[in-house]
Amino acid sequence: MTNTQTETISPAAAAKTARLWMPKRVLFTPAALDEPFGRQIHKRISSLGIEPVVLPSNRLTNLRGADERETYRNAKNTLAVVTAPPGALRLQPIPPSADWQFHLAEGCPAHCQYCYLAGSLQGPPVTRVFANLPAILENTIRYEQPGRFTTFEASCYTDPLGIEHLTGSLEASIRHFRQRENTQLRWVTKFDHVEPLLGLPHHGRVRPRLSLNAEIVTRRLEGGTASLSSRLAALRKLALPTVLGGGGYPVGVVLAPIMPIPGWQEAYTQLFDQIGQALDFPCDLTFELISHRFTPGSKEVLTGWYPNTSLEMDEARRVKKTNKFGGVKYVYPGDQMRALRQFFEAKIASRFPDARVLYWT
Ligand code: SF4
Repeated sequence: MTNTQTETISPAAAAKTARLWMPKRVLFTPAALDEPFGRQIHKRISSLGIEPVVLPSNRLTNLRGADERETYRNAKNTLAVVTAPPGALRLQPIPPSADWQFHLAEGCPAHCQYCYLAGSLQGPPVTRVFANLPAILENTIRYEQPGRFTTFEASCYTDPLGIEHLTGSLEASIRHFRQRENTQLRWVTKFDHVEPLLGLPHHGRVRPRLSLNAEIVTRRLEGGTASLSSRLAALRKLALPTVLGGGGYPVGVVLAPIMPIPGWQEAYTQLFDQIGQALDFPCDLTFELISHRFTPGSKEVLTGWYPNTSLEMDEARRVKKTNKFGGVKYVYPGDQMRALRQFFEAKIASRFPDARVLYWT
């Protein structure tokens, strides 16, 4: 980023990529098949050699296994194509990430042991894809603020790139937002299969971000995602100018969840080195900095899913915070937070002086 040298995608890009997720079970509700976009997904999935099952009703049932483990295993191997309920058209703000959130799916096939979805989505972690996406996208127009730049976040409840080969929902979203002046589509991923998105015109109205962490965190806690080197290669491809074979997107790095693991300064310094190598050309770059936190609810779900996790979720080592609705979360103590924040902001200022830090939380 600080170096003006440009080159085509480097050999580092040839790093091992995550396998594309192929669900063992794909379910369609009849209502999803009534939607033209749902039928498009059906065709796409069938062409991948997967035979979808059409359910007798619009309810998803029989998702539970004999025990918690089996329920988790079955759900993480299931893709359900459904129609989003009418409530999905009432958008919610999502500060500080964007003005509004909308959902092209809920759930994710990966196995991150700290997954933030554990505290927000109920029931078995099936990935549900919305067949009425065109209506969901059309509805976002009502939330554009005249004369003001409006941002829309698509990754609050899913990793959109992790399921893109099965759905095409991200491409449909990019096609929508590229036509909307004064808007930005924002999405974030831990996957790396960006090639189908590189040739798409986006008019700078889409900001993909890669979720990155220190190598040891990625390896230990982020099962089923692309390796760190593959994600860095994907970031590079997205940011490279189109004339050099890249996507020419404004890009972002989401550093999350930041954790003061033993040797964290060295581990995160190495990560900044790697980001610098991946983005060794001028580009529009933002950072979002998110420290690890958990809630009583997310801890209970996560320890059920990952009983042997090495993830620290010890209330005694945290500070309890209560929001105005009575919700509780546990964050790092003030001293630790200040040290982390200072370190990350200083590193970014010195290594990526043209990049913007959007927020620390
Ligand atoms: S990639 Fe994101 S949504 Fe998916 S399991 Fe990991 S943290 Fe959860």
